[in-house]
Amino acid sequence: METECKQELLSLSLSELEEWMVAAGEPKYRAKQLFPQLHRGLSPDEMTNLGKRLQEKLREAFVWHLPVVEQRLVSALDGTVKYLFSLSDGNCVESVVMKYDHGNTVCISSQVGCRMGCRFCASTIGGKVRDLTPAELLGQVIAAQKDLGERISNIVMMGIGEPLDNYDNVLKFLHLVNDENGICIGYRHISLSTCGLVDKIERLMGEDLPITLSISLHAPDDETRSAIMPVNNRWGVDALLDACRAYFARTGRRISFEYTLIAGKNDSPENAQKLARVLNAKLRSRTETMPIHVNLIPVNEVSETGFKHSSKAAVAAFAKILESKGIRATVRRKLGSDINASCGQLRRAAMKDG
Ligand code: SAH
Repeated sequence: METECKQELLSLSLSELEEWMVAAGEPKYRAKQLFPQLHRGLSPDEMTNLGKRLQEKLREAFVWHLPVVEQRLVSALDGTVKYLFSLSDGNCVESVVMKYDHGNTVCISSQVGCRMGCRFCASTIGGKVRDLTPAELLGQVIAAQKDLGERISNIVMMGIGEPLDNYDNVLKFLHLVNDENGICIGYRHISLSTCGLVDKIERLMGEDLPITLSISLHAPDDETRSAIMPVNNRWGVDALLDACRAYFARTGRRISFEYTLIAGKNDSPENAQKLARVLNAKLRSRTETMPIHVNLIPVNEVSETGFKHSSKAAVAAFAKILESKGIRATVRRKLGSDINASCGQLRRAAMKDG
């Protein structure tokens, strides 16, 4: 198909657009007219200030797509909005907008499916279909903002997929979404969550991007972690925490840890003791003290996995043990629980229906 070899217009940075304008015999300033409008969600055909000839050239050179809202679920409890977006090839991903006092946060997907295989997770059940392009990563933010008619001020990369398994596209996206001529979200307002690809964490610390890293730890030792997260067979808990320590030393950015509590798998008082011990031993020394924050998340039950969430009492006891060892622990407020807001589930339901 002719369109398949065309570049996606939304994947281009402002300087790439400027280069293209000049090469196409157009004035460079045209890029600065085009870029902000693109990032507001307009198609080039809607931009009347460009002129017909330039619109025609853009149509010939590029494809333009925004993710299309297939489903929009709004939580009656807390206003959380969950989107099922379709992409230009018919694949679907999910994004969620959470409303906080400090503004709107969008949680975006990074891949169609996932190949990490975490046992409790709905997104990985069918494996990875493909990576999302920079245009599709950005498109989720633009499309959500456009649909809501409200500004989005924070991004978390915690949706479907493993962002560090799609490294180059994610990096390009981070630069695009940060551009002051476009959506302009500061790096400090962006979090990236990873199951622990140590080689990529090491690469990321050299990029000089003050984003927040979240580590999906979910277990204090290799035996427990490998049983629920296959990635742990490649990089164990020690190697992962060493990378976290190096990341903090290099960037000064605090890291938060996610710990999904699964009944009978990783939620015992012994697990909590061990977690406190290993975090303190690996991340705190006499010379440096890394602030440690653990988010405790009662697992969302996914019918295919058979895992059950921990009791309220077990969650509270787990948090108390961490706090008693000097580790800040919060139990994540569950937003959008009436709309299946945890990622992966809506896409799976849509796949079953289709
Ligand atoms: N691949 C990345 C980001 C996507 S998952 C990562 O692993 O961090 C976002 C977060 O949701 C991760 O912490 C993940 O472990 C967690 N998660 C996945 N399935 C879950 C479930 N069923 N219940 C609770 N948390 C889950």
